[in-house]
Formats: sequence, structure tokens, C-alpha cells
Amino acid sequence: MDFELSEAQKELAERIEGLDLPEEPIRACFAALGQAGYLERELGSQEGFGSLAMWEARVALARRMPQLVLAAELDRLVSGLVAERGPETISAALKSGQSIAAAAFSERDRNTLRGELGTLAEPDGDGFRLSGRKDQVSLARACDLLAVLADTPEGSAILLVEPAADGVRIGEPIDTLGFQALGTCPVAFESVAVGRERVIEAPDDPREALRWAEDRAVTAIAVGICKLSLDRARQAADAPRQAGKPPAGYQVVRFQLAEMLTLLQTAELLARRAAAESSDRSLALCAKVFATEAACRLSDSALSILASAGYRRDEPVARALLEARFGTLAGHSSQVARMAIADDALARLAP
Ligand SMILES: Cc1cc2nc3c(=O)[nH]c(=O)nc-3n(C[C@H](O)[C@H](O)[C@H](O)COP(=O)(O)OP(=O)(O)OC[C@H]3O[C@@H](n4cnc5c(N)ncnc54)[C@H](O)[C@@H]3O)c2cc1C
Repeated sequence: MDFELSEAQKELAERIEGLDLPEEPIRACFAALGQAGYLERELGSQEGFGSLAMWEARVALARRMPQLVLAAELDRLVSGLVAERGPETISAALKSGQSIAAAAFSERDRNTLRGELGTLAEPDGDGFRLSGRKDQVSLARACDLLAVLADTPEGSAILLVEPAADGVRIGEPIDTLGFQALGTCPVAFESVAVGRERVIEAPDDPREALRWAEDRAVTAIAVGICKLSLDRARQAADAPRQAGKPPAGYQVVRFQLAEMLTLLQTAELLARRAAAESSDRSLALCAKVFATEAACRLSDSALSILASAGYRRDEPVARALLEARFGTLAGHSSQVARMAIADDALARLAP
């Protein structure tokens, strides 16, 4: 396999590297991503990491603003569904980045399978009345559109609701360990009126669609965390001291650096291979598990080399340590992914 990227495969990533991305507001970042073409590429509720070009662009963005990769992938999930099944005007605004969508899919303590949701849409005149609660909705306060997964009498559907609509109650942002910039909030819906034209059919397995969107984001973020951790550890290990030897003068620290570089290279190559062979679902899950767990190890090793100088809130490695852990919980969690990988391995080994 040829791991050299073509000019065409690098083009979107290079555009993302050159983008002017202000820290705030997130709306300006979405507009910039829309202009770069990032929000309209490869939409659709697909499995895996998408193409190599999109994968490289995600990693480029992850190194600059990890939270934006996650926000954009949730937005792209909704945008893809609207493009396939929803009104053209809403779709065009999402693809251009002029409008931002939040995915209100998951419900704690419940499956998101048809017939098992706590959020219900009852027919009412020409439309529906939506009632229920979603516990974790990222960008709930910053978005223009809440895509709410709910059960209707005809099956599961996604209702496109304006956050300012009567009966929508957005709670206070959750004090999450990392990714605070996503402003993840609980949202309650109290008999919210939704017109039939803003109701689209849900994918066959909405939970899987959400998991894959999260996998694509957190795997790219994990590779970014691995690179950042190694860079910071290398700088700290090499830094001259007033007296005594620098950390890199100790064999044990050199071993740590060698292990970090090995994990980074492996995570990067495996994820690239999964993107190149986008139809191999099991390979993508292996890459996701490896990269997200490697990010936890690398950020932890980096902090141990930075030592007390790194044990502070404004140290990027300290932040990366908290964000890395989310990668193993989000999407196909390490446990869920391992179950699926094992199923696949057994099926392949079956006579
Ligand atoms: C910061 C943040 C932002 C989020 N933003 C959004 C958002 O914008 N929109 C949204 O819809 N959701 C959002 N979520 C929720 C997220 O998408 C996941 O659904 C959620 O983190 C995982 O579900 P859970 O926490 O309910 O865990 P559960 O699914 O209840 O899992 C609990 C435990 O059981 C294990 N487990 C579960 N199923 C299996 C299985 N089949 N096989 C083996 N083990 C299993 C898991 O690995 C885990 O250890 C967000 C969460 C966070 C933390």
C-alpha cells in the first residue's frame, strides 16, 4: 500500500491548515469551514472514516481546534441526513456553515432503538407535538437547529426544531471534564409544535450513525493528542537545566519517548489505512480503539516527563489528558468496539 498522499488528497487538509479560525464565536469557525468546503464533503450516514482526503482534513483541524472537529462531525451527521431526506433550504444553509445543527439523539439509560426512546412525537393536526428530554446535547445554545430523535406512531423520526421554539428548555451547560467549549447541555421538550415538513425519517440505526460520527471525530482528535504529547514531552526532556542532567539524560525517559513515538506512528498509520480502505468496518474500529487508547497513554507519559511544570490548567498536555479519555467513551466505546471486532474476527475465522 502506498502511504504517500496525492496532491488532491492533501488539498483539503492544506486549506484547513491555512484557515483563519477565531477561538470565539463558534459561528465564525463554522462559516470558515463552510467556505473551505469541509462541511459538504462526503455527507451521509456512512460507517468508517470516509476518504483519506477527509481523514487528513480532520486531523489538520484536530491539531488546531479539537472541539471543532467534534462539533463539525455532529453537524455533518445531521446535515447528511437532511441532504438525503429533508428540505433543500435547510440543507443548503447547513452545508455552507451559515446554519449550525446540534444532534439531540442519545438518551442516558435508554437505547435509541425504535420503540425504546423516551422522547415522543404525537400527531397533532398537520404536524406533531414533541415531548421528552435529551441529557447531553453539544452546541445546544449555539446552534440554529436541534435535530431531535424521537419515536412517532409510524416509527423513529428526526424532528428539526428551532432552539427558540415555544416549549424548548435548554438547561445549564454540564461541567464536563473536557471539551467545555462544546457547551453540552440537557434539553427538555414540552409539547413543542413541529410542522410535518420539518420531520424526516430516521436512519435504520440512529445510535450507530451517532457512534460513527463520534468515532470519526475522536480518532482524529486522538492522533492530534498523540502528536501534541510527543512534541511537549520532547521539548521538556531536552530542556537544559541550571544543574544536573535534563530528563532525556535518564535512560528510562528515553525509553518512554521511544514508546510514545512508536504508538504515535502506529496510530497514525492504522487510521490512515482504515481511511484508505473505507469499507472495512472492523479495521476502522481497530484504528479507533488503538488511537484513542494510545492518546491516553501518550498524554499520561508526557505529563510524567513534564512533571510538576505540566500539572496546571493552562498546560496543553493536562487538557489533552482529560480530552483523551473522552475518546475511549465516545462513539463505539472501547468495550463496544472490542465486542464488534471480536464478532467480526470470529465470523472471518468461521469455516
Ligand atoms: C461531552 C459530551 C458531549 C456529548 N454530546 C452529545 C450530543 O451532542 N448529542 C448526543 O446525542 N449525545 C451526546 N453525548 C452522548 C454520547 O453520544 C454517547 O452516547 C455517550 O457518551 C455514550 O453513552 P452512555 O454514556 O449513555 O453510555 P452507555 O451506552 O450507557 O454505556 C455504559 C457502559 O456500558 C458499556 N456498554 C454499553 N453497550 C455495550 C455493548 N453493546 N457491548 C459492550 N459494552 C457496552 C459501555 O462501554 C460503557 O462502559 C455527549 C456526551 C458527552 C460526554
